Amino acid sequence: MSDPLLSVEGLRTRIPTEEGVVRAVDGVSFEIDRGETVALVGESGSGKTVTCETITRLVPETATVTGEVRFDGETLTDLEENALRRIRGNRIAHVFQNPRSALDPVYSVGDQIAEAITLHRDVQEREARERTVALLGRVGIPNPGERVDDHPHEFSGGQCQRVAIAIAIACEPALLLADEPTTSVDVTVQARLLALLSELTEGGMSTLLVTHDLRVVATLADRVVVMFEGQTVERGPTEAVFGRPAHPYTQALVESAAGVGEGADRGEVPTDGCRFRHECPHAIDACAGERPAFEPVGSPGHAAACVHYAPERDPSVVLAESEPAWTVSRER
Ligand code: SF4
Repeated sequence: MSDPLLSVEGLRTRIPTEEGVVRAVDGVSFEIDRGETVALVGESGSGKTVTCETITRLVPETATVTGEVRFDGETLTDLEENALRRIRGNRIAHVFQNPRSALDPVYSVGDQIAEAITLHRDVQEREARERTVALLGRVGIPNPGERVDDHPHEFSGGQCQRVAIAIAIACEPALLLADEPTTSVDVTVQARLLALLSELTEGGMSTLLVTHDLRVVATLADRVVVMFEGQTVERGPTEAVFGRPAHPYTQALVESAAGVGEGADRGEVPTDGCRFRHECPHAIDACAGERPAFEPVGSPGHAAACVHYAPERDPSVVLAESEPAWTVSRER
């Protein structure tokens, strides 16, 4: 079996603030295979976006990053800023949450897409423009030859997100980091953007999808990584994690699938042991000890970090439902 395209191991991101140091990412590990879509899910503030930004070091300069990120044979966490700049927007591209703020209002969308091409490819202006028009057509902008010289304010929110996706895929990246790519658009536009992202992944691109919307995950993702308070607590194939969520936090997340957008006001969260223990209905004394290790929970590749799955567990405690909690129907 070939190495994964992306491997994140023990990633930690500490960000100093006026209120103290925030442990935004606190020991996150996962992999993405070539051509695979992996979704990072969890409430707002769970560390999904900072994890995504840490991969290509788009975090504040004051942040401290430890752990390892490997991408296509290179250790990104060892690279200098200049070397990372050659990778960002080229082999790894980002799509951000708010497309209007990601686009420059002063320049035409065509100029912004062409700049993404010429920054990393040795092409003449004319060829860059031809590619730009083709990209606008590929992401579904009607009359791309005419719209190429329009400015962002002349596009709808959904079209701006399509332009942002065109910029991201301009250099045919191996990995797309898509942070809430459908959050700021209405339901109809969301469906079209999901179809577009699905089509792009079928072309062989890998995607890390960051979202709090489990229905988007069910549509697009091959595998899911669940985050709680900066830590990963469950991972596995989408059907397994949503059908039989194993970690008590994932179970709560799936049960309230329609309303997980905002992070709960949960007061002080423990910094040691299992961070979910103040809210967990299954907490026992052991949950305050070592941080629980990931243990297999059934289907191949499905694992959860909870003491009740440890080898020495009490067999009378059963956390996972025998009936599927959620049926995932994928339209890919
Ligand atoms: S380790 Fe303990 S507190 Fe954490 S999810 Fe499992 S049972 Fe609940």
